[in-house]
Amino acid sequence: MVLLLGSIATFSFGQDIDKILNAKEVERIEKTLSSDEMEGRATFTRGNDKAAAFIAKEFKKAGLKTWNGSKSFLQSFSMVRTKTDSLSVMLDGVAVAAKSVILITSQPELNINQSSGYEKVSIARGSVFATEAAKYRNPTKNYVVFIDTSFASSFPRLQPRGASFKNNNSVIYILTPQDAKIFSVYAKNTLTEQKLQNVVGVIPGKSRKNEYVLFGGHYDHLGIRGGKDREGNPITDSIFNGANDDAAGTTAVMMLAKYFKAINNNERTLVFAAFTAEEIGGFGATYFSQQYNPADVMAMFNIEMIGTESKWGKNSAYITGYDKSDMGKMMQANLEGSGFTFYPDPYTTQGLFLRSDNATLARLGVPAHTISTAKMENPPEPNYHKASDEIGTLDMENMARIIKSIAISSAGFVSGKQTPSRVNPADVRR
Ligand SMILES: [Zn+2]
Repeated sequence: MVLLLGSIATFSFGQDIDKILNAKEVERIEKTLSSDEMEGRATFTRGNDKAAAFIAKEFKKAGLKTWNGSKSFLQSFSMVRTKTDSLSVMLDGVAVAAKSVILITSQPELNINQSSGYEKVSIARGSVFATEAAKYRNPTKNYVVFIDTSFASSFPRLQPRGASFKNNNSVIYILTPQDAKIFSVYAKNTLTEQKLQNVVGVIPGKSRKNEYVLFGGHYDHLGIRGGKDREGNPITDSIFNGANDDAAGTTAVMMLAKYFKAINNNERTLVFAAFTAEEIGGFGATYFSQQYNPADVMAMFNIEMIGTESKWGKNSAYITGYDKSDMGKMMQANLEGSGFTFYPDPYTTQGLFLRSDNATLARLGVPAHTISTAKMENPPEPNYHKASDEIGTLDMENMARIIKSIAISSAGFVSGKQTPSRVNPADVRR
């Protein structure tokens, strides 16, 4: 039920906001998203599809529009899982062991050499491996990457965790003591195409329709798992419900959608995105970021793990990459006198700015930051990426206050009065 009608021109953040953004509503959505019914919401599973359908139903109920006139709130796309059946790599006439080769490809067959048009690059001894490797994450052309053997221990990290975009460029990583002038790579792969989906809803802007403000969170989680947990203890409850990671952020996105639709005074277009496949490589956000011109996105609020108290206690959260744009400062200024504080991320050594879906947009220059309360020092908070990330560990009242504070802090962006500075993509490196 819509409680506030469109005729309200100015909105006071008094009791009215509580009618939509309250602990009871947090609990209703959280309960559904983190229930065993959703089977831990792993990408490519039935549970993930169920969660997407639930979010889409809620977007519809809230009265949102679909993205770009699409028939559905589900933004579907295909990815390909690649299994290499046979592989032969030669460098200057010498065969390379299969364990020294990693293929990122969605081609059924690769048959290439130094004259096939693949760009030859190398990660030399002494370079910063993670920074160099990140350059080939979403390749704009085909690459052969020679990696110095001094990086042998980091090399396995290049192994794809999930799948590749269909028809994406290929990257061939080869661990070798020296670059080769003459090389050949032959591989035969079995491909399995799988569909996945983001859930995207829109509230068109009243005047600045082509300026977007995004609210996002990822609805996928780790699914059903056995074996041992992070600390080596046997797993007894096999469903990883991900109540905090990131049913909490998804809940916030859904509630903000309902709230902004009800107050109905946004001059800019608001886009609400529940991303898939964050946990296996951020593919949902990557696909989403290719559907528009990043220059049109004025700000992105990515919401991740806001279910527990931050290190400063209640009524506070932190913003990652605080110094990469002035968005955080503006948000905090908009909250002046509210008793709520957004702090700069206190765990900068953990690289959180680059560890969630905001990074995909930040790399394109968008002021895109993650809002979180999770204690992420080493070791991180006790339920992180464990089956014990259950609804009972969340503080619904505090979550409601955080969501309200995001709404209030975003008011200037939504109205078009405030525009944060752009992130410098050169500043966004692993
Ligand atoms: Zn997460």
